[in-house]
Amino acid sequence: MTGRILVVDDVKANVRLLEARLSAEYFDVRAAESGPDALDTIARWPCDIVLLDVMMPGMDGFEVCRRIKADPRTAHIPVVMITALDHADDRIKGLRAGADEFLTKPVNDIALVARVKNLVSLKRVTDELRLRAQTGSQFGLAPAVEADRTAPGRVLLVDDRPSSYARLAEILREETRVDVETDPAEALIDAAETPYDVVLLNLGLAGHDPLRLVSQLRALERTRLVPIVLLCDADDRTRVMRALDLGVNDTIMRPVERTELLLRVRAQIARKRATDRLASDVEQTIAMAITDPLTGLRNRHYLESHLDRLVRQAQEGDLPLSVLVIDIDRFKQVNDRYGHDAGDAVIAEVAARLKAHTRGLDLACRLGGEEFVILMPETPAEAAEKVGERLRAVIEGAPFALPEEAGHLPVTVSVGVAGLLGGKDSGARLIKRADIALYQAKTAGRNRVVRHWGAGEGPDAAPDAPGHERRAGRAGPLGGRHTGTG
Ligand code: GH3
Ligand code: MG
Ligand code: MG
Repeated sequence: MTGRILVVDDVKANVRLLEARLSAEYFDVRAAESGPDALDTIARWPCDIVLLDVMMPGMDGFEVCRRIKADPRTAHIPVVMITALDHADDRIKGLRAGADEFLTKPVNDIALVARVKNLVSLKRVTDELRLRAQTGSQFGLAPAVEADRTAPGRVLLVDDRPSSYARLAEILREETRVDVETDPAEALIDAAETPYDVVLLNLGLAGHDPLRLVSQLRALERTRLVPIVLLCDADDRTRVMRALDLGVNDTIMRPVERTELLLRVRAQIARKRATDRLASDVEQTIAMAITDPLTGLRNRHYLESHLDRLVRQAQEGDLPLSVLVIDIDRFKQVNDRYGHDAGDAVIAEVAARLKAHTRGLDLACRLGGEEFVILMPETPAEAAEKVGERLRAVIEGAPFALPEEAGHLPVTVSVGVAGLLGGKDSGARLIKRADIALYQAKTAGRNRVVRHWGAGEGPDAAPDAPGHERRAGRAGPLGGRHTGTG
């Protein structure tokens, strides 16, 4: 993994040392000698991480960090502050300035590389999400979702020492909801089931290997991104390094200082929420791109992108696949007589009835206007024809309520049915055949289901034989009921 690292330090020797260590790990490193120089470089050279010395003449590291975090263009860049070992207050000041991580001078090689790698990989994930969210908003698709930022964060505290967890929980309850779990196996289940904002893990669990829990949390899809904060002792060094390698986000040394604990947990909650927000933007953008807003059914775009996949699946598994094309009868009259809003209400109600009377496996799409397509995997055309008849009856069966209690309206639909014909057939041809059948249903008087018989399929066994009307009902409120002729 490579990444772009900016090293900020006024002492040239320090810069060279860090540069050498990071370059040896194939990171792309640049240096800045002062705060203003650093801000200038970041503006021109988008980097993945800033390693920031606290003590600099003029603008100090805290101020540089504050400015990076205050600018929406740079706020997402992780900042690692390099503090003197004996200045405990620096950590608190750094956290207040928005710092993501700390290293103490003299910088330990392994700690440096582990933290930088960890932050770069985390940033890759959030960058990807940011990119996808932006792509969506360029198309005007991204909705303005406002996650509930005011709800208290949820913390899972994994610790089996009663004296320890009692105190930690007491501190954390000042501003978060805390669950305590003493068994790491149970903790994994909890974390997968509950959307925690932070998992706080005691490295000193008796009789358990907490690092196993870290790696399990990182392996599970549902907990992959939950921030993990480790509670450790000064002599845990080696295991802390392993933990950082496994993807722990932060560590807190014992004895735990109240303010530091709260600030660090708060920072992780903020980070988690920002990631969640991005992820849900992306999800909603994708959902909007494939959903028809009036009916909530899949749209034409989705149908087109999935049709061939479903056809291939059916052909590979030697399974049947059928399609219904459904069109509302004399729909123009609804618009003309009752207005466009009434027309929309009828379309939405037809969609709701179609959805309610098809299986979960069936894919109901609105093709546009008052036309729908239902793809039915693992369904032979005979069965699809029965479903088509059921749907036709469900639409005809109860009149449609017009908006604003303007009365009720009888509505009917015509349905074309076709089944996939062997390994050489295509999605486009399948839909085309159902369309031909639909056209025949219309010309035969509407409110009926017509199946298209393919080569070797129907009673005539003629290649692409014309459709056979199977069942018919009344076309509109006035027509007489016919019996199927199929
Ligand atoms: P047929 O029985 O032959 O299908 O007759 P029809 O009137 O339903 O057929 P046609 O395709 O000529 O008319 C469809 C009408 O649907 C035309 C258009 O005004 C209307 N329409 C298309 N999309 C929408 C929509 O989103 N909302 C509303 N209210 N009307 C729509
Ligand atoms: Mg129509
Ligand atoms: Mg139409």
